[in-house]
Amino acid sequence: MPLSAETVAQITDLLAQGATNRAIAAATGINKSTAAQYRARLGYGPAPKRPSPTRSTLTVEEKCLTYVRPVEGGHMEWTGRRTKANGTPVFTHHERTYTARSIAFRVAKGRDPEGYVTAECDYKECVAPDHLEDEPGRRRIRAQLAAVLGRATALTECTRGHATADHRKYLPDGSPYCGACAAQGKRARQAAA
Ligand SMILES: [Zn+2]
Ligand SMILES: [Zn+2]
Repeated sequence: MPLSAETVAQITDLLAQGATNRAIAAATGINKSTAAQYRARLGYGPAPKRPSPTRSTLTVEEKCLTYVRPVEGGHMEWTGRRTKANGTPVFTHHERTYTARSIAFRVAKGRDPEGYVTAECDYKECVAPDHLEDEPGRRRIRAQLAAVLGRATALTECTRGHATADHRKYLPDGSPYCGACAAQGKRARQAAA
């Protein structure tokens, strides 16, 4: 049975407003496939998909913070998932997996980290945004510690000639070492393994 001009006008109107086939069917009493036929005939694109009811409305930063639990001393513990391989805190947001520390870092600094992110406090595996540093931040605060402890090196290069300015790094306790030599050593160990 052909639809009345009034119903067609109503369908046209609803399509123009971006209604779904389901909404058009409910409003006009036609079935969804008829609504789909009119949609195609009138040149409207595919029906908008309804967002999945399980799809989080949180931002990636907000989602990350739902998995942290404050512990004594201003530190935070990860209550979410960890990778099987090395226990790295991770979580999924809109079908993508993120490492907790890189997102927590972004919460504190408002930018993405350079290199990997570590907790520079004394709480093991802390994820408190304020306690995290990336490569440049780690270098800076460890160098400050070395200076305070009188461990900052006066040398301009290491025994293999790597420039201190570019390659000097510090352990968490402020002990200096050459980053270039350490990287070479790591590569050699991996090649030998
Ligand atoms: Zn901490
Ligand atoms: Zn070196």
